[in-house]
Amino acid sequence: MQRMTREKIEQVDIIIIGAGLTGLTAAYHLKELGLKVQILECSKHVGGAIQTFHQGGFTFESGPNTGVVGSVEMAELLGQVPDLRLIADPSAKKRLILKNGQFYPLPSGAKSGIKTPLVSLKDKFRLLLEPFRKPGTDPNESLASLVERRLGKSYLKYAVDPFIGGIYAGDPRLLVTRYALPKLYALEQNYGSFIRGAIAKRKEPKAPKAELITREVFSTRGGLGALTDRLADLIGRANIHLGVSDCSITPLSDGNWEASYTQTGISYQLRGKHIITTCAAPQLRSLLPFLSEVDLAPILSLRYAPVIQVSWGKEGLSLPHFHAFGGLVPSLEDKQLLGILNPSACFPDRAPKGGTLLSIFLGGMRRPDLIDASDEEIKQIVSDRLRRLLRIEGNPDLLRIFRHRYAIPQYEASSEARIAQIAQLEARYPGLHLAGAIRDGIGMSDRVQQATLMAHELAKALSNHG
Ligand SMILES: Cc1cc2nc3c(=O)[nH]c(=O)nc-3n(C[C@H](O)[C@H](O)[C@H](O)COP(=O)(O)OP(=O)(O)OC[C@H]3O[C@@H](n4cnc5c(N)ncnc54)[C@H](O)[C@@H]3O)c2cc1C
Repeated sequence: MQRMTREKIEQVDIIIIGAGLTGLTAAYHLKELGLKVQILECSKHVGGAIQTFHQGGFTFESGPNTGVVGSVEMAELLGQVPDLRLIADPSAKKRLILKNGQFYPLPSGAKSGIKTPLVSLKDKFRLLLEPFRKPGTDPNESLASLVERRLGKSYLKYAVDPFIGGIYAGDPRLLVTRYALPKLYALEQNYGSFIRGAIAKRKEPKAPKAELITREVFSTRGGLGALTDRLADLIGRANIHLGVSDCSITPLSDGNWEASYTQTGISYQLRGKHIITTCAAPQLRSLLPFLSEVDLAPILSLRYAPVIQVSWGKEGLSLPHFHAFGGLVPSLEDKQLLGILNPSACFPDRAPKGGTLLSIFLGGMRRPDLIDASDEEIKQIVSDRLRRLLRIEGNPDLLRIFRHRYAIPQYEASSEARIAQIAQLEARYPGLHLAGAIRDGIGMSDRVQQATLMAHELAKALSNHG
């Protein structure tokens, strides 16, 4: 069937590909700064990885459950929506780690650090010498190597490995500290030691607005989807084109960019002075046909952890022994289970009164093949772990399985070449911005920071060029 082409070619300041948190935040700020912006999104809804569901009194997420107020930009964005901002109950601050089939609290201070059964006695003594160990010299050192060198094997196995399973669904032996945990890398490089660095940083004058970075765990009232929905309303739904297909970008000879796409069988063209992509690496190949395989190879080599998330809820079930943010699982203890979060302990609106909502994460880089497991196999793993680890028997009132094949980008050794290539392509093609989680961090705070800074830079660049 022949496609119809729309006659009118619309001109805007900035085109954004993707209506996830990065695209929506960038568009929100660009609009506030007086620029004309349009978003093209291939799915039928806004939010990208962020999607909230409601069923039988449970409010649950298919993607992220919570974020951390880890950047000034994230804090300020939440400040823009005070009616939605929801900070986790401090009583649920506890993070648990599984050892020998039992959950233990992750130490939060010196006293609990001495007592914890999670790390060996030898490594507890070794910690005293951490300030005197030489800093590493390999800029691409893995997280596992750095932690083992400075803190010891048991800190790697029972603190960093489960923590990385929870954040990256990743393998600390493959993640490069400089990209995956840049703040930790900087502590060693700038101060010679984690402990000396942490003490020195406490005494240093704070950057402007640093007090806003509270590191509190947040969600939004009604789930994180309420945040992306609100951003979409503020941007104006007419500026967001959902359900677009065959989207491709071309640089024009007059310095503009053109995005061609199809929507309900009709072809459209949109022109802009700048174009921002926010999608995952695999989607860039069809989006940027003017780039060669060689140009794209360093970006397409980015690997993603596949993750299965199971939302599990039961009315009239309280779990006083699991009143915590959640429990993380070292790879040594379990290859299939990454962790179990307890959103109903953090936020009052996630389960019917007196009930429990859990979010169970499976697979990741430990067991990427699990993404293809059947629903029956997944349900089996879930009921087995809930019975063994949390002593939960019986059928739930809610069970939903969500599969994310490209859940979390892994900032591995290929990162140096990828980031250099992104910078090179952006310099070669002025007006093209390759953003999203292919660089600058994987968490929501990172996404909001990148999008906000980029929006302000673009607004400045456009005002300088009249
Ligand atoms: C299971 C899971 C758990 C997570 N847990 C946490 C957590 O606890 N805390 C935290 O801070 N972060 C977490 N994250 C990460 C967080 O969700 C992401 O950092 C953030 O939502 C990414 O937003 P984004 O806009 O950059 O990308 P996305 O949300 O992926 O948005 C990109 C958008 O681009 C669209 N798109 C792709 N290709 C095209 C195309 N060709 N044309 C048009 N549109 C296109 C996609 O449909 C999508 O909507 C988690 C992620 C997942 C998947």
